[in-house]
Amino acid sequence: MCIRSENQSPWPGSCVHVLCPGPQDQVFRHATGRLVSGQSDRWQIVQSDVLVIGGGFGGLWSAIRAAGCGSTVTLVDRSFAGKSGHSFFAGGAMMVLLPEDDLDECIRDIVAGNGWLIDQEMVEEVFKGSFYRLKDLESFGMSFRKSGGTYLWTRARGTMKVKNLWPANATAGDEVTLLRKIALSTGLVRIIDHAFIYDLAKASDGTIAGALGAGVQNPENYLFKAKGVILATNSGGYRGHHLASELQGLGPFMAFDAGAKIKNPEFHYINMRPAKHEIEGSGILPAIGARWVNGKGEHFMEQYDPLFKDRAPVLKIVQAAAREARAGKAPISMDVEGITEEEREKFRTLQVSHGWMPLLFEKCAREEGYDPLRNNIEWKPAYECNKLGLLADAQCRTSLKGLFAAGMARTLGINPFTGWSIAACTWSGYTAGESCSRYASANDWKSIDFAGAEESRSRFMNPLGRERGLDPDKVVHDLQKILFPADVLILMKEGSLNKALDGVLALKEESLSRMAAADLRTLIKARETATMLLSAEMTLKASLMRRESRDGIFFREDFPEPDNANWLKWILVEKGEKGEMKFSTEDVPFARYRFRPSS
Ligand SMILES: Cc1cc2nc3c(=O)[nH]c(=O)nc-3n(C[C@H](O)[C@H](O)[C@H](O)COP(=O)(O)OP(=O)(O)OC[C@H]3O[C@@H](n4cnc5c(N)ncnc54)[C@H](O)[C@@H]3O)c2cc1C
Repeated sequence: MCIRSENQSPWPGSCVHVLCPGPQDQVFRHATGRLVSGQSDRWQIVQSDVLVIGGGFGGLWSAIRAAGCGSTVTLVDRSFAGKSGHSFFAGGAMMVLLPEDDLDECIRDIVAGNGWLIDQEMVEEVFKGSFYRLKDLESFGMSFRKSGGTYLWTRARGTMKVKNLWPANATAGDEVTLLRKIALSTGLVRIIDHAFIYDLAKASDGTIAGALGAGVQNPENYLFKAKGVILATNSGGYRGHHLASELQGLGPFMAFDAGAKIKNPEFHYINMRPAKHEIEGSGILPAIGARWVNGKGEHFMEQYDPLFKDRAPVLKIVQAAAREARAGKAPISMDVEGITEEEREKFRTLQVSHGWMPLLFEKCAREEGYDPLRNNIEWKPAYECNKLGLLADAQCRTSLKGLFAAGMARTLGINPFTGWSIAACTWSGYTAGESCSRYASANDWKSIDFAGAEESRSRFMNPLGRERGLDPDKVVHDLQKILFPADVLILMKEGSLNKALDGVLALKEESLSRMAAADLRTLIKARETATMLLSAEMTLKASLMRRESRDGIFFREDFPEPDNANWLKWILVEKGEKGEMKFSTEDVPFARYRFRPSS
């Protein structure tokens, strides 16, 4: 088995092959079976060299690469790998550094757009590998938009130089479905769908040696045993938006509980969304002539971002919209009159006709009688997800031995530039797969701490035992009421952050041990809700710490200017000895980096 790119890498040390040739006699070495003795007889044990949790871009690339390096892999997903998570719904724009592009200009764009708070070495690696992953995808059978043999590209929103390439049919759904097939075709990857992971499993020496799961469609208690584990479950959120409702931060927070460090808890992705119906386009429509307009008919973005105007980074548009609304100039609409007929047709053919978009355009017409490409409809800020993730290095190793992180479950940056996420998830999956496989080759399976596993399982099952208690959905609604007013996470200030924190702590106290579940579905919701409460506490505390603003990524009304002297730092959180959240900061290592702010 060998799938390789034709191009040779010009960069020393970067790997060109996605799947290295394995030994001829390599066989699938999974072992499954029940332990028959004592306290562990309830576990269905699934063993492999590498365990990947999550089947989006991060997880599938991890599995493909780990298998390419010769490891046996189990990939487990709570839904259906390759057809769930954010990856399946994405538009598919992917940043790629084409051979004629200037690497430094692209790095600088991304670094400056992240307020200088991004790992520059990682950004460089993402771009360096991007063309080779593109070639891998093409060798798998994916095609990208071209004209006369040349790639068609769009400029990523909020950047000056970076290019986005698009799948020929403008949806990432086909891409992840294809990655699933490629992973399975290696013969070394087993995919177990519909298994919900609720905790990591530790070995007796404290290293990460697997994960614990519950069958969603069967009554299995899984113990996934592995030499190395890759967490690729995406980031967190508060169900603010239906496309992001799957994100609660389960993966990063189970790693936090096991001792891993979380980075960037104060940052969020809040986007503009149509007030009545979902459609995608807050980034693409302004690129083809649409403009943001307030209730008084004023195009207001130029005053907030004279350079990028309506194509400003998304959080800047959200902040501007919130300030316009507070000044009595709501509603905020997308003025689509400036889009030419030709662009409208192109958008309809490429964006609207694929994936789930046609259904939503039809719904707009059927239920409201409007066409979002012709009528100026109201848009509002909607919370998508937070940008916290596991602290991980350039090899995607977390601070816990045996645990690696890929996709948005690790910090990949703050600014949700269109196209960056898929490029960075692809890079991190590929890298984590390779690192974890190498780690697995150098280590043996360890004996699992079964007492710890049993304890974790009974903690997870706890809400099932309560006859009466709180409904997790109700707790989430109460949490949303605390977090979603504009002065909490969009236009932050000390008073409103403290008030929200008090509310979250009270809600946590009142509900954490009182949620009840009558079935597995509600049990899972109870775990998700508990995670969201922790995440909310962490984000508010971290937002209070950062007493400054960073252009386009973080805005404190009481500290509206950047404070480069004190805040070119990352906030990190780990679990303290008594289970408390222990916050610290780490300076951005500019002595090692090539790009730095001018003042
Ligand atoms: C509508 C939309 C459009 C987008 N468009 C673009 C775009 O054009 N370009 C771009 O770069 N980015 C885009 N993005 C963002 C990008 O798609 C995501 O950031 C990226 O796909 C995340 O990949 P991931 O592998 O980290 O996570 P996901 O794709 O979310 O995968 C995580 C997987 O983990 C599984 N999982 C989670 N928790 C558990 C658990 N406890 N147990 C077992 N399994 C679990 C989930 O079921 C899921 O399959 C878009 C996002 C959305 C929502």
